[in-house]
Amino acid sequence: MKGLQAGRTGLEGAHAAGRLVSPVRAKPTRPQVRRVYAALLDHYGPQQWWPTASEDPEAQRFEICLGAILTQNTSWTGAAAALANLRGAGATTPEAILALPHDVLAGLVRPSGHFNVKARKLQAFCEAVMFEAGGSLDALLEGDAAEVRARLLEIWGIGPETADAITLYAARKPTFVVDAYAYRLFERLGIPPGPRRYDVYREFLLSVIGPDVWALNEWHALIVRHGQQTCRRSAPRCEACPLARRCDFARATAAVA
Ligand code: SF4
Repeated sequence: MKGLQAGRTGLEGAHAAGRLVSPVRAKPTRPQVRRVYAALLDHYGPQQWWPTASEDPEAQRFEICLGAILTQNTSWTGAAAALANLRGAGATTPEAILALPHDVLAGLVRPSGHFNVKARKLQAFCEAVMFEAGGSLDALLEGDAAEVRARLLEIWGIGPETADAITLYAARKPTFVVDAYAYRLFERLGIPPGPRRYDVYREFLLSVIGPDVWALNEWHALIVRHGQQTCRRSAPRCEACPLARRCDFARATAAVA
Protein backbone atom coordinates (compact mmCIF):
# COMPACT_ATOMS: atom_id res chain seq x y z
CA MET A 1 0.00 0.00 0.00
CA LYS A 2 2.77 2.37 0.94
CA GLY A 3 4.63 1.55 -2.25
CA LEU A 4 1.52 2.13 -4.35
CA GLN A 5 0.96 5.50 -2.75
CA ALA A 6 4.57 6.42 -3.41
CA GLY A 7 4.08 5.40 -7.06
CA ARG A 8 1.02 7.62 -7.40
CA THR A 9 2.88 10.56 -5.97
CA GLY A 10 5.62 10.00 -8.50
CA LEU A 11 3.14 9.85 -11.36
CA GLU A 12 1.34 12.95 -10.26
CA GLY A 13 4.69 14.67 -10.20
CA ALA A 14 5.46 13.40 -13.68
CA HIS A 15 2.11 14.62 -15.01
CA ALA A 16 2.59 17.98 -13.34
CA ALA A 17 6.02 18.30 -14.89
CA GLY A 18 4.50 17.54 -18.30
CA ARG A 19 6.71 14.56 -18.90
CA LEU A 20 4.04 12.04 -19.89
CA VAL A 21 1.72 13.15 -22.69
CA SER A 22 2.46 16.43 -24.33
CA PRO A 23 -0.71 18.20 -25.54
CA VAL A 24 0.74 18.73 -29.01
CA ARG A 25 2.49 15.78 -30.60
CA ALA A 26 3.12 14.48 -34.05
CA LYS A 27 1.34 11.20 -34.80
CA PRO A 28 3.54 8.16 -34.23
CA THR A 29 5.39 6.92 -37.28
CA ARG A 30 4.69 3.57 -38.91
CA PRO A 31 8.02 2.12 -37.71
CA GLN A 32 7.24 3.21 -34.13
CA VAL A 33 3.85 1.50 -34.24
CA ARG A 34 5.25 -1.62 -35.87
CA ARG A 35 7.97 -1.89 -33.24
CA VAL A 36 5.27 -1.91 -30.55
CA TYR A 37 3.49 -4.76 -32.33
CA ALA A 38 6.69 -6.73 -32.89
CA ALA A 39 7.65 -6.41 -29.22
CA LEU A 40 4.22 -7.51 -27.98
CA LEU A 41 4.03 -10.43 -30.44
CA ASP A 42 7.51 -11.56 -29.52
CA HIS A 43 6.76 -11.31 -25.80
CA TYR A 44 3.28 -12.90 -25.65
CA GLY A 45 3.19 -14.96 -28.85
CA PRO A 46 0.18 -15.27 -31.21
CA GLN A 47 -3.12 -15.00 -29.34
CA GLN A 48 -5.41 -16.71 -31.88
CA TRP A 49 -8.63 -14.95 -30.85
CA TRP A 50 -11.65 -15.07 -30.41
CA PRO A 51 -12.13 -17.80 -27.75
CA THR A 52 -15.26 -19.89 -28.42
CA ALA A 53 -16.65 -23.16 -27.11
CA SER A 54 -18.48 -24.03 -30.35
CA GLU A 55 -16.98 -26.24 -33.05
CA ASP A 56 -19.37 -25.35 -35.88
CA PRO A 57 -18.25 -22.19 -37.77
CA GLU A 58 -21.72 -20.60 -37.87
CA ALA A 59 -22.29 -21.34 -34.18
CA GLN A 60 -18.85 -19.85 -33.48
CA ARG A 61 -19.76 -16.65 -35.30
CA PHE A 62 -23.00 -16.33 -33.35
CA GLU A 63 -21.20 -17.01 -30.07
CA ILE A 64 -18.65 -14.29 -30.90
CA CYS A 65 -21.50 -11.82 -31.47
CA LEU A 66 -23.09 -12.72 -28.13
CA GLY A 67 -19.73 -12.51 -26.37
CA ALA A 68 -18.98 -9.08 -27.89
CA ILE A 69 -22.24 -7.77 -26.41
CA LEU A 70 -21.89 -9.54 -23.06
CA THR A 71 -18.34 -8.29 -22.47
CA GLN A 72 -19.38 -4.63 -22.71
CA ASN A 73 -18.27 -2.84 -19.53
CA THR A 74 -17.20 -6.04 -17.85
CA SER A 75 -14.40 -8.58 -17.77
CA TRP A 76 -14.30 -11.53 -20.14
CA THR A 77 -14.70 -13.83 -17.12
CA GLY A 78 -18.22 -12.50 -16.50
CA ALA A 79 -19.13 -12.69 -20.18
CA ALA A 80 -17.80 -16.26 -20.43
CA ALA A 81 -19.90 -17.32 -17.42
CA ALA A 82 -23.00 -15.79 -19.04
CA LEU A 83 -22.23 -17.62 -22.30
CA ALA A 84 -21.88 -20.89 -20.39
CA ASN A 85 -25.32 -20.29 -18.83
CA LEU A 86 -26.82 -19.67 -22.27
CA ARG A 87 -25.25 -22.88 -23.59
CA GLY A 88 -26.53 -24.80 -20.57
CA ALA A 89 -30.06 -23.53 -21.28
CA GLY A 90 -29.80 -24.40 -24.97
CA ALA A 91 -30.03 -20.71 -25.92
CA THR A 92 -27.44 -20.87 -28.68
CA THR A 93 -29.48 -19.61 -31.64
CA PRO A 94 -31.38 -16.37 -32.28
CA GLU A 95 -34.67 -18.27 -32.26
CA ALA A 96 -33.92 -19.89 -28.90
CA ILE A 97 -32.88 -16.58 -27.32
CA LEU A 98 -35.99 -14.80 -28.59
CA ALA A 99 -38.18 -17.61 -27.25
CA LEU A 100 -36.99 -16.93 -23.69
CA PRO A 101 -38.97 -14.58 -21.45
CA HIS A 102 -36.96 -11.46 -20.67
CA ASP A 103 -36.55 -12.25 -16.97
CA VAL A 104 -35.26 -15.75 -17.73
CA LEU A 105 -32.74 -14.41 -20.26
CA ALA A 106 -31.67 -11.68 -17.81
CA GLY A 107 -31.10 -14.33 -15.15
CA LEU A 108 -28.91 -16.37 -17.49
CA VAL A 109 -26.68 -13.40 -18.37
CA ARG A 110 -26.52 -12.05 -14.80
CA PRO A 111 -22.76 -12.87 -14.43
CA SER A 112 -21.96 -10.34 -17.17
CA GLY A 113 -23.37 -7.43 -15.13
CA HIS A 114 -26.03 -4.89 -16.21
CA PHE A 115 -28.00 -8.04 -16.94
CA ASN A 116 -31.38 -6.47 -17.72
CA VAL A 117 -29.83 -4.18 -20.33
CA LYS A 118 -27.60 -6.96 -21.68
CA ALA A 119 -30.65 -9.21 -22.11
CA ARG A 120 -32.40 -6.46 -24.09
CA LYS A 121 -29.30 -5.99 -26.21
CA LEU A 122 -29.11 -9.70 -26.99
CA GLN A 123 -32.78 -9.67 -27.92
CA ALA A 124 -32.29 -6.62 -30.17
CA PHE A 125 -29.38 -8.33 -31.90
CA CYS A 126 -31.35 -11.56 -32.39
CA GLU A 127 -34.31 -9.58 -33.75
CA ALA A 128 -32.00 -7.99 -36.31
CA VAL A 129 -30.80 -11.45 -37.39
CA MET A 130 -34.32 -12.84 -37.59
CA PHE A 131 -36.31 -9.95 -39.00
CA GLU A 132 -33.81 -7.82 -40.92
CA ALA A 133 -31.49 -10.53 -42.23
CA GLY A 134 -34.05 -13.27 -42.87
CA GLY A 135 -32.84 -15.46 -40.02
CA SER A 136 -29.29 -15.64 -41.39
CA LEU A 137 -26.34 -14.34 -39.38
CA ASP A 138 -24.22 -14.66 -42.52
CA ALA A 139 -26.61 -12.30 -44.32
CA LEU A 140 -26.27 -9.76 -41.48
CA LEU A 141 -22.48 -9.99 -41.80
CA GLU A 142 -22.42 -9.89 -45.60
CA GLY A 143 -20.67 -7.10 -47.53
CA ASP A 144 -17.46 -5.19 -47.02
CA ALA A 145 -16.26 -4.07 -43.60
CA ALA A 146 -17.83 -0.61 -43.83
CA GLU A 147 -21.22 -2.07 -44.80
CA VAL A 148 -21.19 -4.64 -42.02
CA ARG A 149 -20.07 -2.10 -39.42
CA ALA A 150 -22.76 0.41 -40.47
CA ARG A 151 -25.45 -2.29 -40.35
CA LEU A 152 -24.37 -3.36 -36.87
CA LEU A 153 -24.29 0.22 -35.59
CA GLU A 154 -27.98 0.55 -36.47
CA ILE A 155 -28.87 -2.20 -33.97
CA TRP A 156 -29.86 -0.92 -30.55
CA GLY A 157 -27.15 -1.57 -27.95
CA ILE A 158 -24.27 -1.90 -30.40
CA GLY A 159 -21.68 0.86 -30.25
CA PRO A 160 -18.43 1.26 -32.19
CA GLU A 161 -16.30 -1.11 -30.09
CA THR A 162 -18.87 -3.93 -30.23
CA ALA A 163 -19.52 -3.34 -33.93
CA ASP A 164 -15.80 -3.54 -34.65
CA ALA A 165 -15.35 -6.67 -32.53
CA ILE A 166 -18.16 -8.42 -34.44
CA THR A 167 -16.91 -7.13 -37.81
CA LEU A 168 -13.36 -8.33 -37.15
CA TYR A 169 -13.84 -11.55 -35.22
CA ALA A 170 -17.23 -12.88 -36.44
CA ALA A 171 -17.35 -11.48 -39.99
CA ARG A 172 -13.54 -11.60 -40.36
CA LYS A 173 -13.44 -8.27 -42.17
CA PRO A 174 -10.76 -5.64 -41.62
CA THR A 175 -11.32 -3.11 -38.86
CA PHE A 176 -9.56 -2.09 -35.65
CA VAL A 177 -11.14 -2.59 -32.22
CA VAL A 178 -10.28 0.33 -29.94
CA ASP A 179 -10.70 -0.08 -26.21
CA ALA A 180 -9.50 1.37 -22.91
CA TYR A 181 -6.36 -0.79 -23.07
CA ALA A 182 -5.38 0.79 -26.40
CA TYR A 183 -5.83 4.36 -25.12
CA ARG A 184 -3.79 3.55 -22.03
CA LEU A 185 -0.98 1.86 -23.95
CA PHE A 186 -0.43 4.56 -26.56
CA GLU A 187 -0.78 7.38 -24.04
CA ARG A 188 1.67 5.79 -21.61
CA LEU A 189 4.14 5.08 -24.38
CA GLY A 190 3.89 8.76 -25.30
CA ILE A 191 2.77 8.10 -28.88
CA PRO A 192 -0.99 8.72 -28.93
CA PRO A 193 -2.26 9.15 -32.50
CA GLY A 194 -4.30 12.15 -31.32
CA PRO A 195 -6.98 12.96 -28.77
CA ARG A 196 -8.63 10.06 -26.92
CA ARG A 197 -11.43 9.52 -29.40
CA TYR A 198 -12.57 6.22 -30.83
CA ASP A 199 -12.44 7.17 -34.51
CA VAL A 200 -9.09 8.96 -34.18
CA TYR A 201 -7.42 5.79 -32.88
CA ARG A 202 -9.32 3.45 -35.19
CA GLU A 203 -8.61 5.33 -38.38
CA PHE A 204 -4.96 5.90 -37.58
CA LEU A 205 -4.22 2.31 -36.59
CA LEU A 206 -6.17 0.92 -39.51
CA SER A 207 -4.14 3.13 -41.86
CA VAL A 208 -0.87 1.87 -40.36
CA ILE A 209 -1.75 -1.82 -40.06
CA GLY A 210 -3.70 -2.11 -43.31
CA PRO A 211 -6.46 -4.59 -44.18
CA ASP A 212 -4.69 -7.74 -42.95
CA VAL A 213 -7.37 -9.44 -40.83
CA TRP A 214 -4.88 -11.74 -39.12
CA ALA A 215 -2.72 -8.79 -38.01
CA LEU A 216 -5.74 -6.75 -36.91
CA ASN A 217 -6.96 -9.74 -34.90
CA GLU A 218 -3.58 -10.11 -33.22
CA TRP A 219 -3.16 -6.39 -32.56
CA HIS A 220 -6.31 -6.11 -30.49
CA ALA A 221 -5.75 -9.42 -28.72
CA LEU A 222 -2.16 -8.49 -27.82
CA ILE A 223 -3.19 -5.08 -26.50
CA VAL A 224 -5.83 -6.70 -24.29
CA ARG A 225 -3.36 -9.30 -23.02
CA HIS A 226 -0.77 -6.62 -22.33
CA GLY A 227 -3.29 -4.34 -20.58
CA GLN A 228 -4.56 -7.14 -18.35
CA GLN A 229 -1.24 -8.77 -17.55
CA THR A 230 1.39 -6.02 -17.61
CA CYS A 231 0.23 -2.48 -18.40
CA ARG A 232 -2.42 -2.57 -15.69
CA ARG A 233 -4.38 0.53 -14.78
CA SER A 234 -3.01 0.55 -11.25
CA ALA A 235 0.51 -0.64 -10.58
CA PRO A 236 1.70 -1.41 -14.11
CA ARG A 237 4.48 -4.00 -14.17
CA CYS A 238 6.98 -1.88 -16.09
CA GLU A 239 9.89 -3.98 -14.84
CA ALA A 240 8.48 -6.95 -16.79
CA CYS A 241 7.40 -4.99 -19.86
CA PRO A 242 8.93 -5.51 -23.32
CA LEU A 243 8.16 -1.87 -24.14
CA ALA A 244 9.78 -0.27 -21.09
CA ARG A 245 12.76 1.11 -23.00
CA ARG A 246 10.53 3.09 -25.35
CA CYS A 247 7.87 4.15 -22.80
CA ASP A 248 7.46 7.74 -21.54
CA PHE A 249 5.54 6.58 -18.49
CA ALA A 250 8.27 4.14 -17.42
CA ARG A 251 10.98 6.76 -17.97
CA ALA A 252 9.07 9.46 -16.10
CA THR A 253 8.18 7.32 -13.11
CA ALA A 254 11.73 5.98 -12.85
CA ALA A 255 13.04 9.55 -13.01
CA VAL A 256 10.88 10.78 -10.15
CA ALA A 257 10.96 7.65 -7.96
S1 SF4 B 1 6.61 0.24 -19.52
FE1 SF4 B 1 4.95 0.22 -18.02
S2 SF4 B 1 3.58 1.90 -18.59
FE2 SF4 B 1 4.92 1.49 -20.33
S3 SF4 B 1 3.76 0.10 -21.66
FE3 SF4 B 1 5.03 -1.15 -20.30
S4 SF4 B 1 3.77 -1.63 -18.49
FE4 SF4 B 1 2.79 0.07 -19.62
